[in-house]
Amino acid sequence: MSSDSAAERDQQVWDVVVVGAGPAGASAAHAAAGTGRRVLILEKAELPRYKTCGGGIIGPSRDSLPPGFQLPLRDRVNAVTFSLNGRMTRTRRAKKTLFGLVDRAEFDAALVEAAQKAGAELRTGVTVSKVEQHGPAVPDRRTVAVVLGDGEVVLARAVVGADGSAGRIGAHVGVRTEQVDLGLEAEIPVPPSVAEDWAGRVLIDWGPLPGSYGWVFPKGDSLTVGVISTRGEGAATKRYLDDFIGRLGLAGFEPSISSGHLTRCRTDDSPLSRGRVLVCGDAAGLLEPWTREGISFALRSGRLAGEWAVRVGEARDAVDARRQALNYAFAIKAGLGVEMGVGRRLLAVFSQRPGLFHTALTGFPPAWHAFARIVRGTTTLGEIVRTHPVARRALGALDRG
Ligand SMILES: Cc1cc2nc3c(=O)[nH]c(=O)nc-3n(C[C@H](O)[C@H](O)[C@H](O)COP(=O)(O)OP(=O)(O)OC[C@H]3O[C@@H](n4cnc5c(N)ncnc54)[C@H](O)[C@@H]3O)c2cc1C
Repeated sequence: MSSDSAAERDQQVWDVVVVGAGPAGASAAHAAAGTGRRVLILEKAELPRYKTCGGGIIGPSRDSLPPGFQLPLRDRVNAVTFSLNGRMTRTRRAKKTLFGLVDRAEFDAALVEAAQKAGAELRTGVTVSKVEQHGPAVPDRRTVAVVLGDGEVVLARAVVGADGSAGRIGAHVGVRTEQVDLGLEAEIPVPPSVAEDWAGRVLIDWGPLPGSYGWVFPKGDSLTVGVISTRGEGAATKRYLDDFIGRLGLAGFEPSISSGHLTRCRTDDSPLSRGRVLVCGDAAGLLEPWTREGISFALRSGRLAGEWAVRVGEARDAVDARRQALNYAFAIKAGLGVEMGVGRRLLAVFSQRPGLFHTALTGFPPAWHAFARIVRGTTTLGEIVRTHPVARRALGALDRG
């Protein structure tokens, strides 16, 4: 092959292809494009696209946004009403903002724009059907073939799979999950008098099914009302949502959108890469097991995946690519993996004794202050368990039942 045609062919190989334009994909694309590499995002939907999500932006999410990014906040939360399956309702107020609320369609589109400003290119309306690292579609061992729904092949030196909890790239990599939950949500437009009542305040209800909870997140002229519970209890989860909406007096308002989505948490020893393909966010099963908070996990793992994908893409051979990918896995396991471990333990305790959490948060000020510091991002659950002997002993005792 002449050097001209080799150069021409190289032109068509992207340094990094990112599959999925949610927070994980946008964050990965921003990080990779920021190093001057040629980055392409492939997204099956047209943007902005709806995503079933509360849109709660806690401190770690805010702190992981691209520099200069303006959060399109719909509301700022400074009060939380807690209830235990509709009973023992109590509101706690904070002097400073606890966390923010966004509309996911707006937020995700703005993140993608930030990645484009950093130099990433975007193709929407294209579904990736598979990736191949061997075979006729792959010109050499340093290239991955990304196959689209219509058969078109896009070539890349490295691929980041950020295609969500039902994604294909996670399956290619071999991500295994140990916790699958069903989240159901309704977007309920409300009149100004009702909206005013909710402004700046969220409601969290510890639910009737083990490990379940419900929420009301106000977004100005509408409320996001949702519940989450273990998969396999579909009818009971739906009943919980209906009862929850009914007892809040919101049953008379017609939802503009009703939807459901599965969340999946990875097993600790599950892979995060295969060859030149890395996974992040929901595609990697990275999610806080207790709260099922996933935006900060997506942003944080996405950024790391983008940074390490650049190095994987430049790896000389398979051994070097594997070394770089293992560095990515190590960074994830040392940070988000540790947080997931604490979340798993909390979920196990919460599933058995939700009343204990309710009593602590509503009647024991240090527990409420810890909650406030965690959602503001000034500490983490892991940090609290590590540094507070009382918290460590309490969790240990509860673990033992
Ligand atoms: C009911 C519910 C409420 C939640 N509330 C919160 C909350 O309040 N706060 C919080 O932090 N987290 C919340 N989460 C979790 C959060 O929504 C996810 O963790 C987060 O969206 C993960 O981001 P992601 O970028 O990994 O995946 P996604 O946001 O799912 O993005 C994946 C993208 O990939 C695209 N895609 C999929 N397949 C393909 C394909 N084959 N080809 C091309 N593109 C593809 C999709 O269209 C999508 O745009 C909630 C989850 C649920 C289910």
